[in-house]
Amino acid sequence: MKVGFVSIFGKPNAGKSTLLNALMGEKLAIVSPKVQTTRHRIKGILTGKDHQVIFSDTPGIIEPRYKLHEKMMAAVKGSLEDADLALLMVDIRDNAEENDQLFTALHLKSPAIVVLNKTDEAGVEKTRLAVEFFASKPYARKVIVISALKKTNISLLMDEVLAVLPEGEPFFEGDDLSDLPTKFFVGEMIREKIFFLYGDEIPYQATVLVQEFKEKTTLTKIRADIIVQRESQKGIILGEGGKMIRRLGTEAREDMEKFLGRKVFLELFVKARPKWRDNELFLKEYGY
Ligand code: GDP
Ligand code: MG
Repeated sequence: MKVGFVSIFGKPNAGKSTLLNALMGEKLAIVSPKVQTTRHRIKGILTGKDHQVIFSDTPGIIEPRYKLHEKMMAAVKGSLEDADLALLMVDIRDNAEENDQLFTALHLKSPAIVVLNKTDEAGVEKTRLAVEFFASKPYARKVIVISALKKTNISLLMDEVLAVLPEGEPFFEGDDLSDLPTKFFVGEMIREKIFFLYGDEIPYQATVLVQEFKEKTTLTKIRADIIVQRESQKGIILGEGGKMIRRLGTEAREDMEKFLGRKVFLELFVKARPKWRDNELFLKEYGY
């Protein structure tokens, strides 16, 4: 059996979370057009007849400005250390030199495949030049051209991944999808809606804490706090007459019902915790 850990690295917005979901055939990681959507290392366990691949989606690589960012980069480091294979992801429209510098700075110990993403947005010539550029780099065992969004060449990429991985015994039960609890994914679904529904600094200054997750006979009862940095942001989350938070609640609940396959009763509260992103105790409480 082919078994191993495969970590996905790249700049914010390269499409790492979209790729994890495409590989898994299941939405495990939240995705948004805004940068810094992913804050944790999210493992997706893909088990087949002759393989078990443990994929890690990671936060995009950035210069830390808050303690939260430091935790995010620690998640990147952890994934670097135990990877059997790295997928180095590039938005094909992005600056190739910059991506090359970043990949070189990772000092990878594992083999790597460069994954050129968003090729649905690039012409043949641009794609050819990018393939040529990365193929000559010492860290690139292979260069694969994909569209994570359109699911193009995902099975080709999977074949290349399996070709690199060693033989071994599986680490997880066959039906485990992730090492993270359902509660985590439920919180992430709320956070994703915040990225879509609110502008400016709100998505970056908000987090979600699931306080209650109870399976009842006919439904699952979920109670969560939305944490913001300032009192004034509470009103923005609520919206006029509570309009925005109702919409947030409805959309998040619909995602949860799809994920859990049963009815959900969702209750949301909004709380202000000044400077939570720089406070060790809060960060710990919120799962970072
Ligand atoms: P991450 O920050 O690297 O995890 O990137 P995401 O997976 O969150 O994706 C960032 C944005 O790029 C989202 O709006 C995605 O829908 C979009 N995206 C991801 N993959 C593709 C792709 O193959 N083609 C196009 N056109 N957009 C993509
Ligand atoms: Mg992401």
